[in-house]
Amino acid sequence: MGKVLVFVETKGDEPRKASLELLCEAEKLAASGKFSVEAVCFGAMSDVLKGRLLSCVRRLVRFTDPELAAYSPEGYARALAGYAAETGARMIVAGATGIGRDFLPRVAVMLGTGMVSDVTGANWFDEPMTFVRPMFGGKVFAEVAFPASPVVVTARPNSFAMDIPEGVNGEYEEKAAGSLGGAIHTRVVRVEETKGDAVDLTEADLIVAGGRGLKAAENFKLIEDLAAAIGGTVGATRSVVDAKWRDQADQIGKSGKTVSPKLYIGAGISGAIHHIMGMDTSKVVLAVNRDPNAIIFNYANYGIVGDLFEVLPAMTEEIRKRKERG
Ligand SMILES: Cc1cc2nc3c(=O)[nH]c(=O)nc-3n(C[C@H](O)[C@H](O)[C@H](O)COP(=O)(O)OP(=O)(O)OC[C@H]3O[C@@H](n4cnc5c(N)ncnc54)[C@H](O)[C@@H]3O)c2cc1C
Repeated sequence: MGKVLVFVETKGDEPRKASLELLCEAEKLAASGKFSVEAVCFGAMSDVLKGRLLSCVRRLVRFTDPELAAYSPEGYARALAGYAAETGARMIVAGATGIGRDFLPRVAVMLGTGMVSDVTGANWFDEPMTFVRPMFGGKVFAEVAFPASPVVVTARPNSFAMDIPEGVNGEYEEKAAGSLGGAIHTRVVRVEETKGDAVDLTEADLIVAGGRGLKAAENFKLIEDLAAAIGGTVGATRSVVDAKWRDQADQIGKSGKTVSPKLYIGAGISGAIHHIMGMDTSKVVLAVNRDPNAIIFNYANYGIVGDLFEVLPAMTEEIRKRKERG
């Protein structure tokens, strides 16, 4: 039976959504009887968090080394690769989050294998396994086979259904990786939380993004109001970030974040390829632009040709009214 290790990222009492999606997907693999699945995590673990994870995965291993209390790419990679080698893991999986993208390649190198990054779909039972991943900035989706073992994978958030399993009551183990001192060359001295939406852009189901068509920083209130009305997260183009209307944390695109929401609403955004690369796996795209030839309409399921200063308030108003009516 092939062993699957799922790296779990946590924040406070919650697993990150990208990790939870992978745990739900992995439980399907465990239920098939062809794989055994373990979640691996580092850092603090409250009883609430432990309970939450153990209801989704059959076995949870937490590394307790003090050097791993804060994120360390070298330390996490050494511990996870060591554990994968020790257990003969067939596959190591993590969300394609900032942290997952950062240290999983190191794990692959340490294990002497390759990796497939940013996957949006997988055929776990194929031999060799095959994965779907966007290439060339999302212009094509490639299906790639991975004949080597172990398989190291990062998966784009919002790519796998979050079907929370029922009746799982996993076992918990604490471990020490040991002798990490020599591997760790950097140390976190301070963590500053950025102010922002409660839901991280990369994991948001609903995003309202604004571009230069907003004309000024204060007009982003229109985007914020619509986002608040639908319970969404605010995103922005690089032009907006360069103009200092929004923080860099809000930037979607090639040099910003990659998002895959269920609904992406983009207003006053032209649809430059550098922006599209970060949002083209959105399930549904609604674009608002006064230029009927704006490129973003080529990527939109729904398009509104109009002035965003009229369209956005009207949408927000209508959504609020409908919510009030219940
Ligand atoms: C190496 C590199 C990396 C980059 N990385 C990124 C990235 O990560 N993310 C990113 O977004 N960009 C990135 N860019 C920049 C990118 O190429 C574009 O310049 C940028 O995305 C354009 O932003 P925009 O759509 O807000 O502005 P514009 O292209 O100026 O578009 C504004 C749009 O608003 C519309 N508009 C104007 N007024 C109204 C109105 N009243 N009502 C409705 N619509 C209106 C206009 O018709 C226009 O289509 C990168 C560029 C380079 C070279």
